[in-house]
Amino acid sequence: REEVQKSCESREFEYVLQMKPVQDTLDNEGMYHGHSMLAPFTSGSQQMETEPLIIAKGEGVYVWDRNGKKYLDALAGLWCASMGFSEKRLMNAAWNQMTQLPFYHSFWNRTSQPPLDLAKELIDIFKPVKMGKVFFCNTGSEANDTQVKLAWYYNNALGREKKKKIISRHSSYHGSTMSAASLSGLTPLHTGFDLPASYVLHTDCAHYWRYHLPNESEEDYSSRLADNLEKLILKEGPDTIAAFIAEPLMGAGGVIPPPATYWDKIQPILKKYDVLLIADEVICAFGRLGTMFACEKYNIKPDLLTIAKQLSSGYMPISAVLLGQHIFDVLAKQSNRLGTFGHGFTYGGHPVACAVALETLRIYKETDILAHVNEVAAIFQTEMRKFASSSIIGEVRGEGLVLGIEFVSNKETKESFPVDWGVGEYFSGQCTALGMLVRFAGNNIMYSPPLIITTDEIKEIVRMSAAALKATEIYVL
Ligand code: PLP
Repeated sequence: REEVQKSCESREFEYVLQMKPVQDTLDNEGMYHGHSMLAPFTSGSQQMETEPLIIAKGEGVYVWDRNGKKYLDALAGLWCASMGFSEKRLMNAAWNQMTQLPFYHSFWNRTSQPPLDLAKELIDIFKPVKMGKVFFCNTGSEANDTQVKLAWYYNNALGREKKKKIISRHSSYHGSTMSAASLSGLTPLHTGFDLPASYVLHTDCAHYWRYHLPNESEEDYSSRLADNLEKLILKEGPDTIAAFIAEPLMGAGGVIPPPATYWDKIQPILKKYDVLLIADEVICAFGRLGTMFACEKYNIKPDLLTIAKQLSSGYMPISAVLLGQHIFDVLAKQSNRLGTFGHGFTYGGHPVACAVALETLRIYKETDILAHVNEVAAIFQTEMRKFASSSIIGEVRGEGLVLGIEFVSNKETKESFPVDWGVGEYFSGQCTALGMLVRFAGNNIMYSPPLIITTDEIKEIVRMSAAALKATEIYVL
């Protein structure tokens, strides 16, 4: 530890090592027993033994903890704060709507103006296919659960009672409600929860670097994955498969861009067996990859689309399902037969969330956010990829303003470090000490900074990553 400390040359390192629970969370003997909140994606011992990092304020791409320490948030909160943490226009949009009409629902053909305006705008800006309707929810998980229900409702309407299974991919993340967690291909979301549900099947994670065969090109690898998907559909019976859901570029599973021709080869298989394509753009949409939607980048023509996060820059909880007209036509007839379309959420289409989302979309347009992302992303991707020469890094990958680093103990064999070495966690801890927040999962590190990030701030990310990497190299060697 001393050696690392020296090599790190960061006085800040001490700060984290010495950070003590604040007084109001200690008992009379000075022991910390955790706080009253059950924390998501945090182990019991972590919650009970370690004071959480409590973020108290934000400005631009920076946040401050309650002890006054400043961090560059290189994950934009949770891949969502595209406008950083102090965009006044979004605050004003929320305030103005609050004072006009703070709440209204959208049940029984009652609604308010903001969701109607936002739905129209979303259909206008989604270019890959002409969508027919927008259904509002509050979270990405709710939207993906809605996708499953829509696929079932659709097939029931068409008299295809057996066509209900949903195929997703290993390592994917689609959320943590019942269906969304089942769709996700990450074991921590299943273990202990009696998931995944039996109607979900998982196919290959499309990660060329890790899974390709010797001498297999990216194109051949994509063909093999498309073949595997077709084999799975045939094995289960095409009349049992309702939909295929995937992130165009995988996010929380480690930032994994699709291999060349992957989407060109997957889509015809789905068409051939009348399997709906659900594109989960919860992370990718609204400029993250340098295009408004990832579907534009990879020429994906989905039947259904999930969006959330950067839709409101994370300032208000809002998500949406965009559905093709062909889906809506079937749903409409079925709901007439059944008496209603029996699905919805109290806060779906919340006027304040919709007003903030509308303002976010205006800002994207007026500031030409795509041009800005493409300019800074070129530097981000070029500089960060230089870390691939490290003896402990197997791959640096990404697109636009999203990037993943994967640590390996052996570059030749791509063998991962044992999980209990906590290499990703160590790197992330170093970043925190230096004043930067990133996401780690096992041997993977993920970056997804606010879209408003400047070139100088990108250079700060690179500089702090270099220092954290140097310390991590010493830690593992
Ligand atoms: N889908 C994807 C691709 C995501 O990355 C996430 C969250 O990170 C979700 C769905 C779930 O969104 P939420 O946390 O809002 O439920």
